[in-house]
Amino acid sequence: MTLSDIQRLLAELETHPTRRLGQNFLHDQNLARSIVALLDIQPGDHIVEIGPGLGALTEFLATQSTRLTLIEKDSRLIAYLKSKFEHGTNRVFHADALDFDLRELWGDGPVKVIGNLPYYVSTPLIAKYASALSPASVLVLTLQLELAQRLGAPHDTSSYGAMTLCTGRRWDIRLERKLPASVFFPRPKVESAVITLRRKPRSKVKALDETIFESLVRRGFSERRKQLRNLLPELKNDWEKITTALGVTPTVRAEQLSPSQWESLTFTVAPSAAQHGAECFDVVDEFDHVVRSEFRDVVHVNNLRHRAVHMLLFNATGELYLQKRSIWKDRNPGLWDSSAAGHVDSGEDYLTAARRELQEELGIEAPRLTPFARLTPSESNGWEFIQTYRALHEGPFHPAPLEVETGAFFPMEKIRQWTSSNPHDFSPVFLEILKAL
Ligand code: SAM
Repeated sequence: MTLSDIQRLLAELETHPTRRLGQNFLHDQNLARSIVALLDIQPGDHIVEIGPGLGALTEFLATQSTRLTLIEKDSRLIAYLKSKFEHGTNRVFHADALDFDLRELWGDGPVKVIGNLPYYVSTPLIAKYASALSPASVLVLTLQLELAQRLGAPHDTSSYGAMTLCTGRRWDIRLERKLPASVFFPRPKVESAVITLRRKPRSKVKALDETIFESLVRRGFSERRKQLRNLLPELKNDWEKITTALGVTPTVRAEQLSPSQWESLTFTVAPSAAQHGAECFDVVDEFDHVVRSEFRDVVHVNNLRHRAVHMLLFNATGELYLQKRSIWKDRNPGLWDSSAAGHVDSGEDYLTAARRELQEELGIEAPRLTPFARLTPSESNGWEFIQTYRALHEGPFHPAPLEVETGAFFPMEKIRQWTSSNPHDFSPVFLEILKAL
């Protein structure tokens, strides 16, 4: 889209760029093409564009992707965007991207997000579209240069901060190129930059309690000039020992700790993941009678029959709360599953295990649990007798950070469509339970 295209289109639509909506339209076609190329679009990708505006990036997306979702806040542009881009499976939403329901984006294959973001809301937009509930695997974003530099800052620099650390935990962030103000109409007052966020593979994300990590980081950077020991008073008594172990001086400030040192600091406060191998389960025969007790690893390695529970929690409108399993789980990591689930411990009965798991995974007192299906052991369910329960619960839930990635209520219709279009997003046991529901 050239500058004269933009000016002609604005005249045809009898409109003008609005500063309140952060409207600076890109008029360099080569740049637009190269920004879109960063998405590395593959057949079947679902591309989500935040703020398509007059379509400077969209026109290059529309030729490639099999599915396009456009989210634009400016009502004056909607009819035009619909007429130009809404065909086939492409959809144009007249919405504030901050209010957009991310649950809409699940179930249509891999999601890639692109946006020349309105600068006034870039930070909350990144927080949302890079959150645990976002299905995106990559984000290609044009931002104010200063924000892009903060996101990708190395440690011990003035740009390095809470946003660098919290976003960098799960995403590889790369500043791709700077953009001068002259490539936009009207020209913004600041320089811009294109960045990519690519989701880190599981092996590159250390298992730790994210809520504690974020709390330490946010408090640590709340007053950059202050020494950390004064901002984290609960660690004062052990501070000498902690800083020695980290290899830094006790007078250290937040920006002097590298990302891995922040992770180590989190481990000292909250030692990581439970040692699952030490758990004991009852081994049962084909009639579900207890035969003996064995360590978890022995049970799994030898495919011994054992017991498990799955709980489905519905809200008053009949939506089901789905849990996205933590990426650090040894089985089905990162997959969507029942509201809560777990093994029955040695000596425990099914109902006690169900109540315990609801407490441990979602932080709730068990509501009245109604048993429904009972699955028998098979290779696909890991040789478990599974007792399922359903119950009514509106939340709020407090998912255990090391167990649960995220969770949300989804309409049953959406779940049925999603499980049939993308069954690999779900644990095999949940798919079996859904059939029995
Ligand atoms: N993508 C176009 C381009 O590159 O020329 C337009 C980019 S312009 C910087 C930002 C766009 O985001 C505008 O079209 C604006 O109306 C839209 N916008 C602003 N706030 C928004 C929000 N909260 N949700 C969705 N779109 C928004």
